[in-house]
Amino acid sequence: MLRQEESLSLSLNSTWGVRRRFEQGKVTINEKKFLGYDKDSEGNLIINERQAVIVRRIYKDFLDGKGTAHITRELEEEKVKNWNGTSKWYESTIKSILRNEKYKGDAILQKTYTVDFLTKERVKNTGKVPKYYVEESHPAIIELETWEAVQLEMERRKKFCEEHNIKKLDTRLPFWGKVICGVCGTVYCRKTWMNDGGKNKRKVWICSNRYRTKGVKGCDSKHVDEEVLKKAFMEVVNVLVENKQHFLDKWRAELEDSNALKQYRFKMFIRILEPTSMTGEFDESLCLKILDQIKVIDGKGKMYITLLDGTSMQCKNNN
Ligand SMILES: [Zn+2]
Repeated sequence: MLRQEESLSLSLNSTWGVRRRFEQGKVTINEKKFLGYDKDSEGNLIINERQAVIVRRIYKDFLDGKGTAHITRELEEEKVKNWNGTSKWYESTIKSILRNEKYKGDAILQKTYTVDFLTKERVKNTGKVPKYYVEESHPAIIELETWEAVQLEMERRKKFCEEHNIKKLDTRLPFWGKVICGVCGTVYCRKTWMNDGGKNKRKVWICSNRYRTKGVKGCDSKHVDEEVLKKAFMEVVNVLVENKQHFLDKWRAELEDSNALKQYRFKMFIRILEPTSMTGEFDESLCLKILDQIKVIDGKGKMYITLLDGTSMQCKNNN
């Protein structure tokens, strides 16, 4: 009993002591488990440039259209080192890096707190003890606007998935999660069809509701060849190029009254379009960056293409 009471009072004291330090604005962050920062001799957080490069890359990749699984896989393939020196990456790590306010220089303190000083058990702080939000507590790795754009983009993708009944966006195929059925509103998935006894492989996209139950045609929509999608996308890109000045003016005008995500997008569109005359060849990374969705109306190539700046066009391929 005494022991318990002692433990309780120790625990309270300890929590109180920690809180006092926070109130005085003294920040303690375990930088060892935290990509991008070191501590100087006085205990202040300083940027670890080698690691900060990775953090910036993750933010950029995400805003360039890559999903968290895609980013994880690429970091592993390139054997990029994590904070602990290994090149093992988890999707959950990437997600928490993208959400972490510390990269914009802020800190939320007391996300967890000690409930039992003897066992050192810590629990998530759901409001039992005060949390402190400290702005500009240390140097930022990510610009505030970019950080905000990432949070909005996460929200946008989440909503898109909910609307189209997708568990998560897998961006490893350029059209995955972006081709929408004009009949039932769900996403298309890719299938490989064999012609001529397996000699000819044909990649086609088809409504994922079509054969959901074996033997039952679940949706009446038509399939569409991947080549048709590529051609349609490049046609839209060419419309942008041919009407370059119109679009540049439009994006520049819209920059002012936009949120952080739209601003990031408009700037990206301007950066891509301004210097180039595009080639006609399908560009996968361009597709990830600028394509929002393709709504397939029929199997003959009639579709509506929407880009991430909000531009929407109808395509009528004759193939
Ligand atoms: Zn359908």
